[in-house]
Amino acid sequence: MTPSKTLQTGLVHGGYTAPPGYKACPAPIMRASTVLFENVADLRTRGDGWLDRSTYLYGLFGTPTSYELEARLAELEGGAHCLLTPSGLSAIAMVDLALLGQGDDVLLPDNVYSPSRELGEWLEGKFGISARYYDPMAGAAIRDQLRPNTRLVWTEAPGSVSMEVPDLPAIAAAAHSQGALVALDNTWSAGLAFRGFDHGADIVLQALTKYQSGGSDLLMGAVITRDPELHRRIGTAHLHLGYGVGMEDAYLILRSLPTLKLRFEAHDAGARAVAAWLKQRPEISRVLHPAFPDCPGHETWKRDFTGAGGLFSVLFDPGYTEAQTDRFVDALRLFKLGYSWGGATSLCLPYRIQAMRTVWDRPGQLVRFNIGLEDPADLIADIEQALAFCSQQEP
Ligand SMILES: *Cc1c(COP(=O)(O)O)cnc(C)c1O
Repeated sequence: MTPSKTLQTGLVHGGYTAPPGYKACPAPIMRASTVLFENVADLRTRGDGWLDRSTYLYGLFGTPTSYELEARLAELEGGAHCLLTPSGLSAIAMVDLALLGQGDDVLLPDNVYSPSRELGEWLEGKFGISARYYDPMAGAAIRDQLRPNTRLVWTEAPGSVSMEVPDLPAIAAAAHSQGALVALDNTWSAGLAFRGFDHGADIVLQALTKYQSGGSDLLMGAVITRDPELHRRIGTAHLHLGYGVGMEDAYLILRSLPTLKLRFEAHDAGARAVAAWLKQRPEISRVLHPAFPDCPGHETWKRDFTGAGGLFSVLFDPGYTEAQTDRFVDALRLFKLGYSWGGATSLCLPYRIQAMRTVWDRPGQLVRFNIGLEDPADLIADIEQALAFCSQQEP
């Protein structure tokens, strides 16, 4: 029987049902906190489907929109499971909290994404976890730093400021022989130019904020695994931390995915053109771009990677002071000054690299470039005019 409805109740319970059979290319945006059950029996028996995404329980665990994004990202990385988080950093924190407990040890590369390092120090102070740093170029020699309680080894391919390319297969073999898991932050290559699982990673992480968004307009992270037990462990942390993502944001990433490879290749071509130009400039002593021989780990990049993307750094000739390189950055017009990368707008940032590292012995100011989607010739002209400012004498 149709219930009686006042005007007000009718505003809440509309009677319209759309005709079935709607199909379109874009994945629909399905938003919900409350997910409806058919009846009490359905409510009581739907069970644990949140973990394998076989059913719906509550908006926090996802809707068809986020399930689709997770499935597509897992497929892209060659994994089986994916968990979405509200940012790349929250994805890193989730992995740490899922896999580390009191008395455990975690190894981080000395060139790790800085907030990940600060997180390690925070966990150390708060939870009695030891966080230690290894030379990103250690390769198989990392075995000397592994301890019986080392549960997790983080890798970044390459480090996103100083760009050393790690020998992931060698690091993973050493870690696995001691029973430690290997997590890879694969953001730099967007999952396109480096196959994390094929090179020994157990967990692959993406800051979707970067290339997958491509629009500099949202924050999101993804943790991808192959092993169902590992997915269950990290999924349990995801559940307890209450990490959900907005479906509008998930939709924006789904919308950007078809152009991911085309954009990445354009970033890559632009970055190599700009880096090659910088390489022959007297102001620049080293181009820290994995596709260039100056870059530590270049041989590993040639062996293991199929592309490079838009992010690289340079070291200025040690004759240039910080004040001079700051003037260079401030003089850029097309390049904007700001964090993050992977969007259409080129960015440039100076880093005080010594302060970020346990060990750093390369002289010269470090400046990082994110090459966007502008014409590389215009970007080079912009850098050329800005270099003139940096060469001026101190006022
Ligand atoms: C940006 C970034 C992150 C963190 O992503 P957010 O979404 O900004 O929190 C993690 N790792 C790397 C390498 C990054 O560049």
